[in-house]
Amino acid sequence: MELITTRIKGMEDVVPAESHKWHTVERIAADTAASYGFKEIRIPTFENTELFVRSVGETTDVVQKEMFTVQGRESKFTLRPEGTAGTIRAVLQNGLLNEALPQKVFYILSCFRHEKPQAGRLWEFHQFGAEMVGSASPAADAEMICMASSVIERLGLKDIELHINSIGCPHCRAKYYEKLREFFEPNKDKLCPTCQSRLEKNPMRILDCKSDICKEIGKEAPLMIDYLCDECKEHFEKLKGYLDGMGIKYSIDPKIVRGLDYYTKTVFEFITTSIGAQGTVCGGGRYDGLIEEMGGNPTPALGFAMGLERLIMTMEKQGCEFMTPDSCDIYIGAMGDNAQNKAVALTKILRDEGYHAECDVMGRGVKAQMKYANKIGAAYSMIIGDNELEAGSARLKNMTTGEECEITLGDKFADRFADIHTADMFSAE
Ligand code: ATP
Ligand code: MG
Repeated sequence: MELITTRIKGMEDVVPAESHKWHTVERIAADTAASYGFKEIRIPTFENTELFVRSVGETTDVVQKEMFTVQGRESKFTLRPEGTAGTIRAVLQNGLLNEALPQKVFYILSCFRHEKPQAGRLWEFHQFGAEMVGSASPAADAEMICMASSVIERLGLKDIELHINSIGCPHCRAKYYEKLREFFEPNKDKLCPTCQSRLEKNPMRILDCKSDICKEIGKEAPLMIDYLCDECKEHFEKLKGYLDGMGIKYSIDPKIVRGLDYYTKTVFEFITTSIGAQGTVCGGGRYDGLIEEMGGNPTPALGFAMGLERLIMTMEKQGCEFMTPDSCDIYIGAMGDNAQNKAVALTKILRDEGYHAECDVMGRGVKAQMKYANKIGAAYSMIIGDNELEAGSARLKNMTTGEECEITLGDKFADRFADIHTADMFSAE
């Protein structure tokens, strides 16, 4: 039985009592994205494995250790470990680059990574992400960072630090890679096996390795930021100027290299200390080489992604406000078959007017119906029986104050309920 009743480690349920927290984050993220001119894109959950190998990079942890790959009938597919690769694939495949540039898209989706499950690190997790395609200007970097920062601010989060860095372009990175190889060469044999193979292909990846030995060896490694070419340097300086102009605080962290290979120039992370070791709530950067790597015309682009689980955990820790969960406006109880008939009809009328209305579907007696109305926190209740049917009216009870008033069961029922509901709302304020 356990296989049926126990969920897989690293996966989570969202129970109804928690879903308003997700709605809060999703709505604020989508509204903020809209205010920056981003439109939603929806992409498939799995793609050809090759897409992720090519874009995320074959020397990354994500590709080497974390992908969930399934064998289809003829070929292999991979559950998306992140949203950028699929999004850019979709942008290219749907010819979106022939439309107005920059293309600005956002997404809210699940991602899958085979990592060690722990707080803030899951097998299936969710991201809000945004990508801007077509601009090489540092103004675009500033806009993306500003948008991420706005989302964080509008969620009510405090003390989230923005760290930025530049990891240069292929041009300046060539020289830096040489320096890195020289640096690691004397300790080559002590590196973890994965990093030994990375030394030749992509030595910067070693700086992102989670192994303690590699971290220790890499402590004094040369930093990319000291080897930037003039163009990359100027790009970074301009970005800092824009951030200063917008009053966005940041610190420069020359150690950020990011876990995905496609980044160039600007990289950034938003970090909190509220939720322990897995404190990066947002990561992003520029990836000017990716589209060409994927077979498109060379096109600059950039983006970021936030982990929704980590955002919600941080909001809970910091006592941030969530949207009020939806609650029942009125419970219409009934005594007897004819009354039940009326109750279902009135409930439908109110639902069509946008109210959250409920009536009995359990065949309970009136007392048990009212107990249920209390339990679900109905704001108003009423009971219809033969007397009420005959009189064409019933008593409507305000469940908070206990006050009662007469309400017609005829044509004006919905209008009358709306009037009472509105008046009570005003007097409660
Ligand atoms: P980390 O350094 O924590 O492993 P990452 O650099 O691998 O993060 P990105 O690829 O930048 O993460 O993904 C963007 C965001 O998605 C992260 O900042 C984080 O909030 C979230 N995230 C990444 N991996 C997971 C995971 N396994 N479980 C939950 N959230 C995750
Ligand atoms: Mg990771």
